[in-house]
Amino acid sequence: MSDIIRLLPDHVANQIAAGEVIQRPASAVKELMENAIDARATEIKLLIKDAGKTLVQVIDNGIGMSTTDARMAFERHATSKIQKAEDLFHLQTKGFRGEALASIVAIAHVEMQTKRPEDELGTEIHIEGSKITRQEPCVCPTGTSIAMKNLFFNIPARRNFLKSDTVEFRHILDEFHRVALAHPAIHFYLYNNGNELFNLPATNFRQRIVHLFGGKTNEKLVPIIAEDTPLVKISGFIVKPEYLAKTKNLQFLMVNHRFVKNQYLNHAITAAYEGLIHADQKPEYFISLEVDPATIDINIHPTKTEIKFEEEHSIYALLKSAVKHSLGQFNIAPTLDFSKDPTFDIPYNYKDKAPELPRIQVDPNFNPFKEEYESRSSSRSSSNFGNYPKKTASWESLYTGIESAIDTSASETIV
Ligand code: ADP
Ligand code: MG
Repeated sequence: MSDIIRLLPDHVANQIAAGEVIQRPASAVKELMENAIDARATEIKLLIKDAGKTLVQVIDNGIGMSTTDARMAFERHATSKIQKAEDLFHLQTKGFRGEALASIVAIAHVEMQTKRPEDELGTEIHIEGSKITRQEPCVCPTGTSIAMKNLFFNIPARRNFLKSDTVEFRHILDEFHRVALAHPAIHFYLYNNGNELFNLPATNFRQRIVHLFGGKTNEKLVPIIAEDTPLVKISGFIVKPEYLAKTKNLQFLMVNHRFVKNQYLNHAITAAYEGLIHADQKPEYFISLEVDPATIDINIHPTKTEIKFEEEHSIYALLKSAVKHSLGQFNIAPTLDFSKDPTFDIPYNYKDKAPELPRIQVDPNFNPFKEEYESRSSSRSSSNFGNYPKKTASWESLYTGIESAIDTSASETIV
């Protein structure tokens, strides 16, 4: 019998790999936005059509690519972010596996325009199912725009597995929240079917949370008293126990500006709330950990949302004590928060209105003492002020006799 093992053609291998990296439109949102961040963009726009089934486009103002790099970027295992295995343990970038773009072009139509700041002309590339259909110089702004169209056009079975637009858009929003929270210093926009949903200018962590989740969130937050140990730097906010619901909605743990899911550390936070919340209430938090990249392993899952810590137990203990400490401080005396932005207290409807000077209506001719002596038909009676019921009708009667007494006593003293 002849040998039966063959190497899979590249486009098939890419389609298989894509299954791990791109499960739904939201996965492409995450990968493209992370690439924009790695390209040091300060402004990132996300455009979505039909919950990403028709279009996911990310436009950044980052470093762009040369013409050769623009082609290379779509090859599998093509990356500018690491060169050797040891680099995996000094990662400063979101990406490093060099497979996101290769996966995306294997299962969708992609159009890219990219330009480096030093180049006059950029490069435009169109790719369909891993095949380049067009490449030419273009006039475009510095940075990169990648549009992913018709996701799973060549894998109908995967397309049919996609959920309703509402569900898929919910996943996209989740990814957008995660990336935007991990990078408050970057200006993000989100347009859905042509409508601007978010415009988040660069700001601090607290304001980014409030811009994303609404003005009412601000009063719910307790700052974590920053724990700065050689092992980990912990900062962020937890939600006050009285605002917690039974569903776990807002649980955001970031490690070195990367959103991660970690049941063990989530347990540390839950344990810190012990005694303060009901058993079925779930804590909500926005916590950022900074650790030495050499002490974590991000490469344990293709989507990189799960990571391993070398010193997991110590980080558990430190995190639990930081959250407990902050909750304790808050229970004794609500923390004075000087970083609070006073604009949060302004109702949304008034946010962009110019302040109006309060106006007081004054009748300059009004004289309560003259009133009794004037007839009701006088000119003043036409103004509102003249129409008050005249309660002072016979006030002078109280003073009858006093006037003359004052007169005489006054003249006596003077004399
Ligand atoms: P990875 O991010 O793991 O390196 P990707 O497939 O996501 O792999 O991207 C491949 C390469 O393409 C990146 O290493 C980077 O050099 C380049 N690239 C991708 N997106 C951008 C972008 N928005 N701006 C500049 N370069 C990019
Ligand atoms: Mg990437």
